Parts: sequence; C-alpha cells; structure tokens
Amino acid sequence: MTKNQPQLITYVDRLAGDLAGLRSVLNNELAGVFGGVHLLPFFDPIDGADAGFDPADHTAVDPRLGDWGGVGAIGADFAVMADLIVNHVSSASPQFQNWRELGSASPYDGMFLTLDSVFPDGATEEELEQIYRPRPGAPFTTFDVAGEQRQVWTTFTSDQIDLDMNSRVAWAYLLTVLDRFAEAGVNLVRLDAVGYAIKKPGTSSFMIPETFDFIERIAAEARQRNMVVLVEIHSHHRFQIDIARQVDLVYDFALPPLVLHALHTADAEPLKTWLGMAPRNCVTVLDTHDGIGIVDVAPEGDQAGLLTAEQVDALVENMHDASEGRSRQATGAAASNLDLYQVNCTFFEALGSDDTAHFLARLIQILCPGVPQVYYAGLLAAANDMELLAHTGVGRDINRPYYDDTSLADALARPVVQHTLNLLRWRSLNHGVFDGQFELIDSPTTELALRWSTDDRHLEARIDLTARSFRVELDGETYTSPESWPYDSQSM
Ligand code: BGC
Repeated sequence: MTKNQPQLITYVDRLAGDLAGLRSVLNNELAGVFGGVHLLPFFDPIDGADAGFDPADHTAVDPRLGDWGGVGAIGADFAVMADLIVNHVSSASPQFQNWRELGSASPYDGMFLTLDSVFPDGATEEELEQIYRPRPGAPFTTFDVAGEQRQVWTTFTSDQIDLDMNSRVAWAYLLTVLDRFAEAGVNLVRLDAVGYAIKKPGTSSFMIPETFDFIERIAAEARQRNMVVLVEIHSHHRFQIDIARQVDLVYDFALPPLVLHALHTADAEPLKTWLGMAPRNCVTVLDTHDGIGIVDVAPEGDQAGLLTAEQVDALVENMHDASEGRSRQATGAAASNLDLYQVNCTFFEALGSDDTAHFLARLIQILCPGVPQVYYAGLLAAANDMELLAHTGVGRDINRPYYDDTSLADALARPVVQHTLNLLRWRSLNHGVFDGQFELIDSPTTELALRWSTDDRHLEARIDLTARSFRVELDGETYTSPESWPYDSQSM
C-alpha cells in the first residue's frame, strides 16, 4: 500500500497541459504536498463524450498528453491511481466498430451488452423500470449492427457502449488494460462506475450480489499485479459500509455533503454520527470531477439517511444560494447532466467563496480517517467556470476548469491556496499519526472534536463551527489559524 498522504485528483491537460507538465507541477509548485495522484482518464481520446471516461483505446495514452513513459515518470515519484473503466467503451472503439460491421462474424461478438443478451425473451415495462440508472430515459441506444437494428445497452451517454461481463472477450479486454497499468507502474486502480457493471433481469442491475463477485474477481487480478482497487459507488450510506467490508478501498462520499451541512448550519451532529460508523478503509474527498453527491447522505425508502429529507433539501438550496444561483444552471435536468443525483458546483462556491470556511473544510477532511484526495479545482479554490459551461453545455464543466501557466501561478499565489498547501504539506509530513487510533471526543453540537494517537504521537483537534475557529495540537505544537502552518515548499 501507498502511504496515507494526500493525493491530488486531476485531469492532466486541464491543470498542466501534458504529463511532463504535470510531473513538473507536482515536483515544483506542489512540492511536498502530495504523495500520490489520481490521473483522471488520460487514455485515447481525452475529449470524447464524457471527458475521457469513454476511451476508444483504453490501452493507449492520448498522444497529446505524452505516453506511458510519462505516466511511469510520475510513478517514479508518486503513487499513481488510474481509472479502469469497467462498464463501457467508446462507440468509436475499433472493437465496437468491427462488431457493427461484421456482427456475429466479428471476433468482438458478445463483448457488448444488448437488450436481448440480458432479456432474451424481451423485457417487460416493469423490468425496465426497475433498472437503476444515473439519468432519465431508457439506458439503450439503437445501432445498426451488420444490417440489423440492435438495442445496445448505454448506461451513460449513447456513445458509451456497455460491456458484457459474461463475455470472455470483454474480460480479456479488461485484463489487457490492467497489464498495461501494471507495466507502467500504476499502484491504485479506480473501478469506475463499477456499481453498474453487472446487469441481471428482475433486479435493479446496480450493486447486486453478482457485482460484488465481479469486483472480487477484478480486484484479485489487480492485486496479482501489485495494485490495490478503489471502488467508486454513490449510494445510501449503509450500503457503503457493507461494500467497504468486501473491498480494499471505498470513497467516503458522505463527507462532502456532511461538511457542507456542518459549515452552512453550524451543526456537526450528522458528521459526528457518520464518523462514528464510517468505514476506515476509505479515500476521503470534498470534491471530485463529478458533482457533489446527495444520495450518499439522503434517506432511501424507509431507511434513514445521515441527513433528513428536509436537511437534504436545505443543503441543496444553501449550495445554490452560496453560489448565487450559478450551480443551478449546471445541475438537475440542466446542462445535459450525466448524474441527476449530484450538484454541480465548485466546493469553494458551495461554501459562499469564503476563505475561512474553505480552509476549515479542508482541515476537517485531512483530520478524518482515510487517505485524503484533493481535486485540483478545490485545491485552487476555483470559482464556477460559467464560460466553460456556456461553451460546452456540460454541467460538470462548471467544476472542471482549464489552467495555463499564468492562471495557475495566479491561483497558487492566493492566500487561501497557500494556506491549504501548507496544511496539506503538514498532513503529508505527519501521515504516520493518521495511521493511529482515531476517536471522537464529546463536544457540543456546534463543534467537532477528535483525537489521533499512536504509541508515541498524539493529536487533538477541536473545530468550532459557530466561531469558525479551531485548535489543533500535535506533539506539543499548537495550531490555531491558517498561518500557523508556516512551511516553505523550498525546504521540503
Ligand atoms: C465517473 C464519471 C463518468 C462515469 C461513467 C463515473 O463514475 O466519475 O465522471 O461519467 O463514471 O464513466
């Protein structure tokens, strides 16, 4: 396993142009901050229908970014996480194109999921209704396959063709990608959208028992190649706890909405309840390249959520208000949204563009159990990118900005960003403490208090949400303001 140090989540091109540029930023401007990096899809091409989550060639690096040597070069200094996109490939992939041309004569016949491969006798309305999906409408697209009209399963966009995991060809394809990763020195594999990977008639086709079997099989293959898997699933929190028992690592997707709720309302109780039961084998985030998840804290049917339905509604409204309505233009049915259950907004704007709140949110994250991952737009306290949103019409682009040398230097020079970088350097340097024993300390509703201890080290932290102040003590040192972390990157 890699060290429990902060990791950056980033697109290669949007932050640093290409792989060589990113390596340089990580080793210079961000020196000492991160122990690892999640490289968002860098496969060929990076600019398809879903910002790289629709590879035509999953085994190739988009030549605009560099090559596998560039990934390996980053891997020489940092742990590297890459996406294994298990659910689908691009409709432009040579395999799909070949199947469309040759049909049953294609070597790729069976690799792609069709309506009739799951429902050989046809599906009833009810069966179709039951299928869990991230967007409205039926998850099928009609393609001409060797002169025949076929209903192909497309969970996400109609350019993302779902794979049939019962097919040996699809399985072999995934193993080829894993081999490529291992060869390039990738350490962590993110199983993208894995909850949707297995479809079965008469079920929701989302996180069914067969999905767990699949995760186990693919995780075993990854482990054999010295890689650990992180499972990406948004769902009711009880489900996350179950999933975590069966996999190496899960995301703590409940944390972002709970931190927002805490900072919007000065109520730390739901966060404390969650920290009391949350899986410890997790990766924490405040924001990612997707929206801020809501299902992760919401009630489901008669199962209580971490927040009540009223608190969830208020949270969403508070985010929209905090962003002065900008997030509304990118969320829900707006802007060809890929996931209706997420709010598209930068984390900085979801907190009202308030430097103190932003710093406190990051402080809470790095004090919580788990490997902290920091999304580049959150790291740089980015505003919602309304220009990019208007240009592409893609809701998530509001939180996927492009930087060049100048805008990156400007962003890095802002005090809120400098303070965050220093905090992360401290977290990186002291990662050993966060492998110790974690405890919540009794505290009033408006405060979060916690402790970490190892045999020889001791950390105590108290965050006052009403006063928006904090006190952190580690081994006799006390930190009470963002300026308390005076690290100079040059000396690291
Ligand atoms: C990724 C999304 C992507 C989807 C389909 C998700 O889990 O995070 O960005 O749209 O998978 O690949």
